[in-house]
Amino acid sequence: MLFRDITLLDCNYEARSHQNVLVRGEKIVYAGPEMPSAEGELIYDGRGRLLVPGFFNMHCHVPMTLLRGYGEGLPLRRWLTEKMFPFEATLTPEEIYWGALLGIAEMVAGGTVSFTDMYLDTDRIFDAVEESGIKANLSSSAMDPARSKSHYRELPAFAHTKYLMDRVRAAAHDRIHAEVAIHAEYTTTERIVSEAAAFAAENKMSVHLHLSETEAEHAECRKRHGLTPAAWFDQMGAFEVPVTAAHCVWLEEADMALLAERGVTAVNCPSSNLKLGSGIAEVERMRRLGIRVAVGTDGAASNNNLDMLEEINLASLLQKGYYRDPVAADGHAMLQIACANGAAAQRRPDCGSIRAGNRADLTVVDLWRPHLQPVHDPTANLLYSARSSDIVMTMVDGRILYKDGDFLTIDVEKVMAKVKEIVEKRR
Ligand SMILES: [Zn+2]
Repeated sequence: MLFRDITLLDCNYEARSHQNVLVRGEKIVYAGPEMPSAEGELIYDGRGRLLVPGFFNMHCHVPMTLLRGYGEGLPLRRWLTEKMFPFEATLTPEEIYWGALLGIAEMVAGGTVSFTDMYLDTDRIFDAVEESGIKANLSSSAMDPARSKSHYRELPAFAHTKYLMDRVRAAAHDRIHAEVAIHAEYTTTERIVSEAAAFAAENKMSVHLHLSETEAEHAECRKRHGLTPAAWFDQMGAFEVPVTAAHCVWLEEADMALLAERGVTAVNCPSSNLKLGSGIAEVERMRRLGIRVAVGTDGAASNNNLDMLEEINLASLLQKGYYRDPVAADGHAMLQIACANGAAAQRRPDCGSIRAGNRADLTVVDLWRPHLQPVHDPTANLLYSARSSDIVMTMVDGRILYKDGDFLTIDVEKVMAKVKEIVEKRR
């Protein structure tokens, strides 16, 4: 496919107009002002449109779309233990599958090309990712909240992780990566964390975990172990491998230095942190200290959507307000956070920006809309004026998954009907 005469955000996230982008197979083979020879290729008229690298949603629990709007108005610990965990304990793999597909449909319609997910039973999430054509780093979350002295290998998460690894290895594509997930400090033990971390290191896998999400969690960890959650995880060896750490709201100065030194990716989830009253993560400070920051929506139960454009808009505004600095978290920084940083944290070196040789993970925004005209600065219009409903195409590895309101790989009517059924059964 040739995107002809389109405005794009280049590999430095600078806007360039009148560009041509040729996609062949799963890759971008040309991006620039020249007209490449494109005989026989489908032509996409790019006038009035903006081509953006697709978003990486770096912290999600995708089947939690089933719990959208459920258990509202409770503090985090009660919300988790009284509402989320009991509901989730009744979910069958089949129901997880439909919830995952619903979340994936929402994400591709919003320009997300890949997501990093943490759940327990990942088998049917794998199917949903595979069938839909999106990319994902999946993981099954190790938890032992009762501190039963279990070994990592005795947990259901271990069996799920092994099975996930086998399926990833056997897949005919590299769209799905397997990671090791450790739920959080307050739901695990020293034994589980050190064994899970050793398993990840042995198998050259990344670790996905929740880190210092709430003030209470951070303070209780200090009381329990005499260490902050970051220092505790580090002591258990969890930071010996690449880590994606969700939230990072209550990090202390020394924690931030540690994350920078260990190359941990901090995932900012502003909607979830505001909605659950957790606080505001210091994204600008983390960036200045050299921490790689990414953005995630978290699950739909605490957001309550999987809209990455809304997430980066909120993240940017929050940082400006928090630091009382209009220059903080500008468009360039936010797009790097939403695209390249996510791709790097997912260990996908040929993703995250529009350049020849990279995977064709692309999103098209229709700028010919009243709230997006005129276009003085395409990046500003994207970040501060656009809505995800302005997205008219999402392509992953050169394959169109969503176009002009149509889902090309997901029977979205069937998915919504199934989800309605699943929820109504429980009323
Ligand atoms: Zn989470």
